Amino acid sequence: MSKASKNVPVRTCVVCRKQVAKSGLQRFVWEPKTEVVALDKTQVMPGRGVYCCLEDACKQRFFTQKQRWKKAFRLL
Ligand SMILES: [Zn+2]
Repeated sequence: MSKASKNVPVRTCVVCRKQVAKSGLQRFVWEPKTEVVALDKTQVMPGRGVYCCLEDACKQRFFTQKQRWKKAFRLL
């Protein structure tokens, strides 16, 4: 039995629902002031965050479905 992944924080990609180590994801936060979904490069920005994995297909879908994620930010 492997315990290697025990302490690795894992988040779910909002596009493909795959569980990925935090380091393999991009974090996006909703900025109420500007009403935009911003890439959180530092992963420590305050506010609601969603994660998207680094697959090109997911990144593309994330950006083309921004309206949907906007909704998700408010409902989370
Ligand atoms: Zn994904």
